[in-house]
Amino acid sequence: CRCSRHLQEKSIPTIRVRAEAVKNIKNAAAETRKAMKTIVAKVDLRQASSAEVIQTAAKILQEGGLVAFPTETVYGLGGNGLDSAACEKIYLAKGRPSDNPLILHISEIEELDRIVAEVSPQAKALMDAFWPGPLTMIFKKKDIVPAKATGGLDTVAVRFPNHPVARAIIRAAGLPIAAPSANSSGKPSPTRASHVEYDLNGKIDMIVDGGAAEWGLESTIVDVSGTVPMILRPGAVTKEMMEQVIGPVEIDPAILHKPTADFKPKAPGMKYTHYSPKAEVFLVKGEQTAVAERINALAAAERAAGKKVGVMATEETKTLYHADIILSLGSRAKPEEIGANLFKTLRKFDFLGVDVVYSEVFSEKGEGMAIMNRLNKAAGYRVLEAE
Ligand code: AMP
Ligand code: MG
Repeated sequence: CRCSRHLQEKSIPTIRVRAEAVKNIKNAAAETRKAMKTIVAKVDLRQASSAEVIQTAAKILQEGGLVAFPTETVYGLGGNGLDSAACEKIYLAKGRPSDNPLILHISEIEELDRIVAEVSPQAKALMDAFWPGPLTMIFKKKDIVPAKATGGLDTVAVRFPNHPVARAIIRAAGLPIAAPSANSSGKPSPTRASHVEYDLNGKIDMIVDGGAAEWGLESTIVDVSGTVPMILRPGAVTKEMMEQVIGPVEIDPAILHKPTADFKPKAPGMKYTHYSPKAEVFLVKGEQTAVAERINALAAAERAAGKKVGVMATEETKTLYHADIILSLGSRAKPEEIGANLFKTLRKFDFLGVDVVYSEVFSEKGEGMAIMNRLNKAAGYRVLEAE
């Protein structure tokens, strides 16, 4: 029968099949995206085989793909910084809020001219003193830098890293490389290729494993686009170090406090407090013995309630505690050791399934400011006083 009712009935299954087919194709595409194969390649520049790894990484970047690579601060997730689509992929892979701009990485000072509209004498002096190195500077941008890379701002953040692998990849790609930290947004920054793999495996094209990042905390950010340079994020290059070169440097007051609606940091990314492991982190402040007593009392109460408790201690204090897991950040006499181990240790607590972490605090002097800034963020600014 070919009457309209029967025709309609007959056609229904066909339509259903089509609808399912569309759904299947969508699912398959989503599965493929989810299951993107990530190449993980070890690199040692002393070996000839490294040339192939660097060339592969550069080619992926030139073709709009994403490559994670080591720098002297933390691992970066690189993409072509002049290509909006590549920048968009970075935001997607990290789950990063789109108002949080990216830092463009260069491998020669001459490349700055291509992306930056204006370099002040102070910026020039800082460059001469600290580049290549763990210092990011904010400049007025040129039109070639897409709004996607800068979160719509008319300024651009630029760094010239000192890590030989980062430099080799950027040079081979021949592009400014946008490279935020290679972690899932909200997690501690990665200081090992294994951290990147844990967060981003299957979401990016390649991870270049060049061993542990030396500093372990992200770069200092200084805004040199105005009259007085201002630190927007503390890092290995300290206020004191910059002041020796150019005189007074300000610090964005908002970076030392919990961001609120009327007290917003100038670096958009600094307003996000979740920087943290799955565990709840609390900082305990005070004299050493009092801190240990307070932490032990808190730990005992949490353990009695069935929680797994971790303590973030130091070489000098680690024997003072009673908890499920006690990890040392290093020696209090070596802040650079504490900084290098901070993110790795926060990740380890997660790995060990810890529910609550109590941490000691450190001096905010010199590089201590960078350590306390990250620690405060990891703890969501929860600080307890030990009497
Ligand atoms: P990450 O690359 O993950 O270390 O994050 C980059 C940091 O640089 C974030 O805190 C951003 O908000 C900050 N940043 C990048 N570009 C700018 C800019 N043009 N002005 C101010 N802060 C910026
Ligand atoms: Mg980051």
